[in-house]
Amino acid sequence: MLISVVVPCFNEQDVLDGFHRRLGECAATMDDAFEFLFVDDGSEDGTLAGLRRLAAQDPRVRFLSFSRNFGKEAAMLAGLRNASGDVVVLMDADLQHPPELIDPMVRLHAQGFDQVIARRTRTGEGTMRSLASRWYYRLVNRFMDVELVDGVGDFRLLSRRAVDAVLALTESNRFSKGLFAWIGFPATTFTYQNALRERGSSKWTPGRLLNYGLDGLFSFNSRPLRTALHLGLFLLLGAVGYAAWIIGAVFVRGVDTPGYATLLTVVVALAGAHMVMVAVVGEYVGRIYYEVKRRPHYLVKEVAPQPSAAALCAPAGDAEPHVLDPR
Ligand code: UDP
Ligand code: MG
Repeated sequence: MLISVVVPCFNEQDVLDGFHRRLGECAATMDDAFEFLFVDDGSEDGTLAGLRRLAAQDPRVRFLSFSRNFGKEAAMLAGLRNASGDVVVLMDADLQHPPELIDPMVRLHAQGFDQVIARRTRTGEGTMRSLASRWYYRLVNRFMDVELVDGVGDFRLLSRRAVDAVLALTESNRFSKGLFAWIGFPATTFTYQNALRERGSSKWTPGRLLNYGLDGLFSFNSRPLRTALHLGLFLLLGAVGYAAWIIGAVFVRGVDTPGYATLLTVVVALAGAHMVMVAVVGEYVGRIYYEVKRRPHYLVKEVAPQPSAAALCAPAGDAEPHVLDPR
């Protein structure tokens, strides 16, 4: 069996060699054939140079490099598209996903699971961040059609048919946690101890995390639109009731002018609610805008090993496994 290990890398020069060494050690303990497919997501440090060096040393190493930073989602997509293995393992370069787990994952896969999902414990992580994540999952699972599990990230093994299923979803706005949950197929989850990042720094600033969270919420379902509708109905009913009450009071007591504070509060509250609802609609319109443009998810600047001239001349769309990124 050929196992493709897909590794998105963005400014990972400090960890690359250590990662490759440990991955190689783990691969040596297993009987399966390996390919290590690194995707350089437009790194600005020595990552690309490091990958060229690794590819020259180790025939199992292949890489492609993006023309700029397109984000981890795009990098994973490129990796899945170009992986030729019977199974694909997605993992980070920073050794937070221990390569030692590939062996048990493959064994679980052999028991008939199409997705073997690693779930990390949150020990050693900042209290604020784990608290925020916990709340996020609670919120998201209320609002989303697919279920997301806290601690489950992109570290997982996918069978060939699961990979093909993910690749059949061509949306521009990719939220892979949702996509992986959406495709279904027999899946199993196991827990591992979260390792802290050894070197380099996490690319997730709180702002980036917030946006990622919102993306997840919006790109997976239309429930926020429904919520806006409910809120609007609720406000409308409240407003009608209040108006009836005021008009009744006018009949009973005549016009009493005071009410400036109430009026202002109502105006401000309604304006705020409207803005939120328009923004929710706007989020979807923005997504439609990106979907209809049908731009590629990423642009490739360099691949290795270079596809042969014959492979490049082959008609597009054939399933030549060693052609890097025909799309
Ligand atoms: N990554 C990427 N493109 C990006 C950001 C991150 O390919 O724009 C890669 C990064 O190199 C790493 C993985 O995605 O291999 C996870 O990133 P990071 O460790 O920063 O995230 P965290 O582990 O903190 O969630
Ligand atoms: Mg990390």
